Amino acid sequence: MLKILIIKNSNMLTKCPKTDKCPLFNKNLLKRESSYNAYKQLYCLTKERHKECKRYIISEKVGSCGDFVMPNSSYTIEEIINKMED
Ligand code: SF4
Repeated sequence: MLKILIIKNSNMLTKCPKTDKCPLFNKNLLKRESSYNAYKQLYCLTKERHKECKRYIISEKVGSCGDFVMPNSSYTIEEIINKMED
């Protein structure tokens, strides 16, 4: 039991470096509180998982991310960038 708690805590040590400014993390994009909590637990506050977030990837590539992009978007990176340029 103790081992499980230690692993869980170490997973929480590294959060996404974009949490301060990310509109999704700061609850400016969605209506449901449960959706924010799910994304935070799955991506924003989980070690290394933020690197799989489409918002994170797009921001790293082009400097910002459209509000329509969710962390688990089914669009490819190229499709998202094209949509942002439209
Ligand atoms: S993981 Fe994605 S949604 Fe969460 S703060 Fe980082 S960029 Fe925003």
